[in-house]
Amino acid sequence: QAPNGTNTCPDYVPEANFYKIEAILRPWRISHVTSGLLKMGIRGLTVSDVRGFGAQGGSPERQAGSEFSKDKFVSKVKMEIVVSKDQVEAVIDTIIDEARTGEIGDGKIFVVPVADVIRVRTGERGLEAERMAGGRSDILSGAR
Ligand code: ATP
Ligand code: GLN
Repeated sequence: QAPNGTNTCPDYVPEANFYKIEAILRPWRISHVTSGLLKMGIRGLTVSDVRGFGAQGGSPERQAGSEFSKDKFVSKVKMEIVVSKDQVEAVIDTIIDEARTGEIGDGKIFVVPVADVIRVRTGERGLEAERMAGGRSDILSGAR
């Protein structure tokens, strides 16, 4: 059940079968995060360009050694990944591993309960809609 020891699930509240992991990250870490997620069998995710401020405030973003700032918001990428409950912690671990620099501005992750998933093409709902061919479940169960 926990072949690699990574899929222990805390009792998230409110309880749901699916959760959306919403991560606000540095744009230049996104390719690393995406590679890590693909490697672990994540096959569906959505990204958008966003702007915001946190502890980093409007201080200039450092990118490739040079600093720049357009206005008081800092450009970030929001990554949204809906997964089954037992995959949430593994996804969070991968995001942290691939996104963390240790400097202010590394970002934040929100875990949001999702009531249902519907695949538009087929009308499937729930687990059938959330599963992706060749995805993490298939990989962990040894399927292809
Ligand atoms: P189909 O089998 O019909 O292709 P699918 O489940 O692969 O269905 P798509 O229609 O290819 O889904 O997905 C459309 C968009 O939905 C993707 O480009 C992505 O932005 C988003 N998406 C799909 N799955 C997820 C997910 N699990 N989490 C976040 N975003 C997702
Ligand atoms: N949980 C899905 C699976 O194991 C993958 C979901 C995703 O890629 N976002 O098939």
